[in-house]
Amino acid sequence: MSYEDNIRKVKPYVPGEQPSGSGIIKLNTNENPYPPSPAVGRVLREFDQDILKKYPDPEAVKLTEVLAEEYGVSKEQVFVGVGSDDVLAQSFLTFFNSKRPVLFPDITYSFYPVWCDLFGIAYDTVPLNEAFELEAADYDRENGGIVIANPNAPTGREASLSEIESIVKNSPDSVCIIDEAYIDFGGESALSLIERYENLLVVRTFSKSRSLAGSRIGFAIGSRKLIAYLSDVKFSFNSYTMDSVTQAIGVAALTDKGYFSDTVRRIISTRQNAIASFCELGFSVIPSSANFLFVTHPTYPADELFAMLRGRGVYVRYFNSPRIDNYLRVTIGTDEEMKKLFEILREYMG
Ligand code: PMP
Repeated sequence: MSYEDNIRKVKPYVPGEQPSGSGIIKLNTNENPYPPSPAVGRVLREFDQDILKKYPDPEAVKLTEVLAEEYGVSKEQVFVGVGSDDVLAQSFLTFFNSKRPVLFPDITYSFYPVWCDLFGIAYDTVPLNEAFELEAADYDRENGGIVIANPNAPTGREASLSEIESIVKNSPDSVCIIDEAYIDFGGESALSLIERYENLLVVRTFSKSRSLAGSRIGFAIGSRKLIAYLSDVKFSFNSYTMDSVTQAIGVAALTDKGYFSDTVRRIISTRQNAIASFCELGFSVIPSSANFLFVTHPTYPADELFAMLRGRGVYVRYFNSPRIDNYLRVTIGTDEEMKKLFEILREYMG
C-alpha cells in the first residue's frame, strides 16, 4: 500500500506547442492571426482597476445577455465558461452520467476521451469513413450521450445540418453536444435546431473567430432545462470562473460585428488560396469549413515535413495517431505567413 494507490491518475491532453521568439510562424493551434477587435483594446485601456477588488459577477450576466441577443435566444438558454474546454468539461460532467457509452468519432478533438477518463464516463469511438466523413446512421444505437465537433478537428470537414439533425433526433434519450469551435469560418450552425430539440447543446468559443484564445471565453446554448442543469454543476464546482476583465472584453468583442465579419472573411479567402497552393505542390486537401487545412502528400511523409518546417521556424501540427499519421494540420495565418510557408515548401519539395 502506498499513498499513490489513492491518487486519481490520468493521461492528460497535450496542447500544441507555444513557442516564443521572433520570426516564428505559428500555424499549429488554430489561433486567429489577426488581433482582437480594437473595442477590446479600449476596454483594457479604460478598465477601472478598483473593480478587481471585488469578486466578478458569477453569472456573467452582461455577457450572457449580449450573447442571448446576438443568437436570438433567451438568457436562460446561455451558459458562459472559461473557454469552450471549460464548457465542454462541465457538460461532460453534467450530461454524460449513464452506464451506456458516450459516442464520438474515432478521429476528432482528442480532449473528449481525456474528459471521459477523468470523469469515469464509458465511451465508444465511431469510425469516420475513408474520406473522414461522418455517417449519421452509425450513431443510431444505444448510447449515453453523443459529442460531435462540427466542423470536425483536426480534419476541418463539416457534417451537413441534416446529418446533425438526424443524430440529435434519433437519440432523444441522451444529450447531444455539438462542438462548434470552428463554425464561424463558413459552417452551418445547429443553433437553428435548438428550439426543436431539448437534448441538443451547441458549444462555441471566442478563441478562434474572435481572436481571443488568450482570454478564455466559451459558451453553450441549449434548452432552458439543459442550461439549468449545467449551471447547477458549475455552481457546485467554482462560482467565480470568469474574471471581470474577461467578461468586459467578451461583451466588447461581441458588439464589434463589422470587425468580426471582416477578419473571418479574410481568413476564408486566405484558406481558398492556400488550398490552391497545396494542390499545386501535389498535396491532397480535405475540404475545410474551419480556419485550418488537413493535408497529406503522396511522397513526402508528414512527419518529415513537420520536422523540416519546424527547423525553419514554421510550426504546424502533426498527430502521430492511427489513420492520420501522414497528415499535417495547418492553421490559416495571414497572407504573408502563408506565402512564407509555401516558399519553404516549394524550395524543399523542388
Ligand atoms: N473544441 C475543439 C474542436 C477545439 O479544436 C478546441 C481548441 N483546442 C476547443 C474546443 C477548445 O477551445 P477553447 O477552450 O479555446 O475555447
